[in-house]
Amino acid sequence: MSTHFAQQLLIWFDAHGRHNLPWQDNRNAYRVWVSEIMLQQTQVATVIPYFERFMERFPTLTDLAGAPVDEVLALWTGLGYYSRARNLHKCAQVITEQCQGKFPNNTKELAQLPGIGPSTAAAIVSQAYNKPAAILDGNVKRVLTRIFAIAGWPGQKSIETQLWELATKLTPKQRNADYTQAIMDLGATICRRNKPLCVACPMQTECQALTQNRVTELPTRKAKKAIPEKQTWALLLANHEHKIQLHQRAHKGIWGGLWSLPEFASLNELQNHLALQGIHQHAKCLPQVKHAFSHYKLTIHPYLVELSANHGHIQESALVQWYASKQMDTIGLPSPIKDMLQQYWA
Ligand code: SF4
Repeated sequence: MSTHFAQQLLIWFDAHGRHNLPWQDNRNAYRVWVSEIMLQQTQVATVIPYFERFMERFPTLTDLAGAPVDEVLALWTGLGYYSRARNLHKCAQVITEQCQGKFPNNTKELAQLPGIGPSTAAAIVSQAYNKPAAILDGNVKRVLTRIFAIAGWPGQKSIETQLWELATKLTPKQRNADYTQAIMDLGATICRRNKPLCVACPMQTECQALTQNRVTELPTRKAKKAIPEKQTWALLLANHEHKIQLHQRAHKGIWGGLWSLPEFASLNELQNHLALQGIHQHAKCLPQVKHAFSHYKLTIHPYLVELSANHGHIQESALVQWYASKQMDTIGLPSPIKDMLQQYWA
């Protein structure tokens, strides 16, 4: 089965696969790794400009390892899931310090590095070193659950184990880099989550989901939980030079390590904070900002306070700084906060 499956996929890939992605040029472990991390939870079309800007600024692992994490986060602004960027930076430093700047060429060692899971490790081994290694990202899970009509949420341990076994069995010894790209391409361009193009699919005669008319029900969706909603009150404190006070967030959790507005659990708390700093100006209510994370929805209530020139000095620290609008692209800012600041500073 494995040879036939791989052959069919490779014939399709040679004619219809994606052969001009920027990370396929000058292919090496560093470029493959950065692209794989960016592609987690993000579409190819969105990733391409980010990847190109990233490579322009950090052409090698050494450049990335030696850069301040703030600069890495600034280039990541808008891609979301910022722990990926922090881990990327940390991983570059670990490889530089502990592996003499060389990527390991096997999945076992790669999967021990920060931010590299088993599928990303396999993608690096396969794509950068052309050695047989099975991947199992979201696209591959979708393709396999449909072709083999595997019911059950693919994130569930028993289903995931079954899919890993299948992916390993199907992975060919020859042309492994192409096979890996081929199965990812099939999932991304033909066997799409919505409206798969079964008529153009090289696997349509084998596909059990198609034969059984179960394409729309596979892969099985995760049982839905109600998405919680949270609220926060954010302070946009501007001084007489039109600089905004930003606070650097803790390195863990949502927007970890990014610069953002100080936040409070209520308007009352925000006003108490102002009073404690001797600020008695009126806090002007700005339009609400809504943002959806994968696991909760956030409503931000921004309040603007503009300080006059005769207001006393407000303490700065490593984690509390005043920024001018022209510095906005040099630091990591959460997208909704950046959008809000752009409106205010426009
Ligand atoms: S036939 Fe349709 S459902 Fe089956 S693998 Fe191809 S695109 Fe996916």
